[in-house]
Amino acid sequence: MPELRIIDLRSDTVTKPTPEMREAMFRAEVGDDVYGDDPTVNKLEEMAAEKVGKEAAVFVPTGTMGNQTSIMAWTSRGDEIIVEEQAHIYMYEVGGPAVLSGVQVRPIRGRLGVMDPADVKAAIRAPNIHFPKTTVVCIENTHNRSGGCVVPLDNMKAIYEVAHEAGVKVHLDGARVFNAAIALGVDVKEITQYCDSVQFCLSKGLCAPMGSIVAGPKDFIARVRKYRKLLGGGMRQVGVVAAAGIVALTKMVDRLAEDHANAKRLAEGINKIPGLAVEMETVQTNMVAVHTRGLAMDGPDFQKLMKSYGVLFNADLPYRVRMVTHHDVTAADIDEALERIAYAVKNR
Ligand SMILES: *Cc1c(COP(=O)(O)O)cnc(C)c1O
Repeated sequence: MPELRIIDLRSDTVTKPTPEMREAMFRAEVGDDVYGDDPTVNKLEEMAAEKVGKEAAVFVPTGTMGNQTSIMAWTSRGDEIIVEEQAHIYMYEVGGPAVLSGVQVRPIRGRLGVMDPADVKAAIRAPNIHFPKTTVVCIENTHNRSGGCVVPLDNMKAIYEVAHEAGVKVHLDGARVFNAAIALGVDVKEITQYCDSVQFCLSKGLCAPMGSIVAGPKDFIARVRKYRKLLGGGMRQVGVVAAAGIVALTKMVDRLAEDHANAKRLAEGINKIPGLAVEMETVQTNMVAVHTRGLAMDGPDFQKLMKSYGVLFNADLPYRVRMVTHHDVTAADIDEALERIAYAVKNR
């Protein structure tokens, strides 16, 4: 068999920096960022804060560090934080809240990642000598484990109000908040108005090689900056990557609509293949959750089958795989992937 071109749908994190990013990285003016001397980092942080309507921002190496330093900065040991049951912070951050902040995590069941504000309200602890103190509610938008579903604005507003009435902060895990903004057709500030702090990734659909932003009030960002140092995330001439982040923020946001269109195209195509099923309701941004039970094949087996045809994706539930569209796969690649999947399923 001739060598097949790989179509990589594992994640939008596989995107490579664009030629414009590499050029900007090459030309970046740099300095020692721990001294606050890197003009490119300073520019990125100012731009990012402005973009999400917050007082200040700090560049961190990863989304995980952004979320964890935010929790560290909002909480004290023994506090409780509320998260959606399938949240990245709860599922995929290695128990960070327990290890780093010494807080207890209270998961709440949502629907497609969306928590009921009444459940959040009920979970916020009353003052009582027996209870931990609730200090933060985390919202994730878009919601990764639900297949990139969007948390609607009215839901965010209601949770923000319920939290604030109780003196509780809202942190937004907005790793893909720009996907949410594009899907909702709103400026990202319409979303971030309903949180006290936000973390978003430059390294996913926006194609930067690394980096996330935490934005929020000035004093909070000063604490996050210090916790970043504590975790070993104080970086030096990091303007070389911040330069790619600036291109990500200025040039790569609007084109996320193409990824969303490609996800729809992929989902519709998959629904024509006997044995595979996608619930179209969940295809809201750049992810497609594909059910494999109809093939009598579990996710990992289907993943292995398609890997031999050069189509890569992750298996995230026993009978479900996740395919993610991004800058480095075109509509033609999607059609090619669909052809290979249809062929493989028929001839297995
Ligand atoms: C990817 C992701 C993160 C973490 O980002 P890393 O840069 O991989 O550490 C956090 N939250 C959500 C929802 C994510 O999808």
